Amino acid sequence: MSQRADTFDLARLALTSGEGRRITDLEVPLDDFELGGERYATPDTVAATLDLSRMTGGGWALRLRFSATLDGPCMRCLQSADPEIAVDAREVHEHDAGGDPELTSPYIDAADVLDLAGWARDALALELPRQVLCRPDCAGLCPVCGEDLNAAGPEHHHDRAPDPRWDVLRDLKLN
Ligand SMILES: [Zn+2]
Ligand SMILES: [Zn+2]
Repeated sequence: MSQRADTFDLARLALTSGEGRRITDLEVPLDDFELGGERYATPDTVAATLDLSRMTGGGWALRLRFSATLDGPCMRCLQSADPEIAVDAREVHEHDAGGDPELTSPYIDAADVLDLAGWARDALALELPRQVLCRPDCAGLCPVCGEDLNAAGPEHHHDRAPDPRWDVLRDLKLN
């Protein structure tokens, strides 16, 4: 049965060197986050698969996989966007790596407890798109009138010259 897992006790598995396990019943909590000034909601928990193997010398090689659907506004048209982000992250951890960051996971403590929630949060952050869009070819909003161009269609355009009253304002500023 799946259960909410903020952490995972690696030592409890009592694996010997070369042994591995796949854990598939993890419900890992995620926090909402901000991107480009907008707030994006994530599911409270995501179903994650954790592959782990015990290395020679007692370290760990870990792989975490899950996918999460975001919920927030499209950055072009402000309509709802719900992109699905797939995460496939790996960590290697040796107990006596001498502080080498390549071989020391920040998510595993001295008692071999894995910070699943922290790892999932950071791994998701690395996979986020630079722009969240409702669809890849979102047409965005009309820069002149602000209408949603996805709904208005390609024939929407403005070919009138700018309102002549603005010229008056410009003239005033010069004086
Ligand atoms: Zn859009
Ligand atoms: Zn327009």
